[in-house]
Amino acid sequence: MITLALSKGRIFDETLPLLRAAGIELLEDPEKSRKLILPTSQAQLRVLVVRATDVPTYVQYGGADLGITGRDTLIEHAADWDGSTSAAGLYQPLDLQIAACRISVAVRADFDYASAVRQGSRLKVATKYVAIAREFFAAKGVHVDLIKLYGSMELAPLTGLADAIVDLVSTGNTLRANDLVEVEHIMDISARLVVNQAALKLKKAPMRALIDAFAGAVGRVGVPS
Ligand code: AMP
Repeated sequence: MITLALSKGRIFDETLPLLRAAGIELLEDPEKSRKLILPTSQAQLRVLVVRATDVPTYVQYGGADLGITGRDTLIEHAADWDGSTSAAGLYQPLDLQIAACRISVAVRADFDYASAVRQGSRLKVATKYVAIAREFFAAKGVHVDLIKLYGSMELAPLTGLADAIVDLVSTGNTLRANDLVEVEHIMDISARLVVNQAALKLKKAPMRALIDAFAGAVGRVGVPS
């Protein structure tokens, strides 16, 4: 049996066409079923429904053989794990080119970010992506106080909690709706396939076949979101 960990939401929705292109159908609708382990049309493959931030943990410890998660989540997981920004021993064979977005710095439209940086001010930055933000501002030589949030980052500059946020941006609509402007593009993000290295050795043939099927599906489906 091979176990693939997925999180509900955007990655799940964008993974389904990839699975389909790889000849795999889910036998139950995750939106209707309360089951957290879903069978697929391939008897030897099942899907685990987990929280996005738990995908790397399941794969790292072998609770799942493979998983699909954002580059952002992988970097933050590695930093929590060993302080690095590599990927905690997870093999990343494939950029699936889905759930594409970028991670950016945004501020209130009336905040003069360029001057604050030039003057060497200490910035208060709210984010869920503490490792990515820390590394980015350290490389720029900007002093920051990082404030960890778990959601609705856009509120932080509006309420005076922070001067800036570091968050995922896709269309930019959320920032615009909250009178925020993007002032730095930190990195491009997309969903990655991650693989447990021991599982790859122990179940070599079916794991390789699945990774190859995903690679082929990316080529065929491969429309960035
Ligand atoms: P947008 O308004 O299209 O720029 O989307 C921004 C909002 O969607 C923010 O709240 C982000 O945290 C979230 N978001 C954007 N892209 C992604 C993604 N690929 N995965 C998860 N959340 C995302």
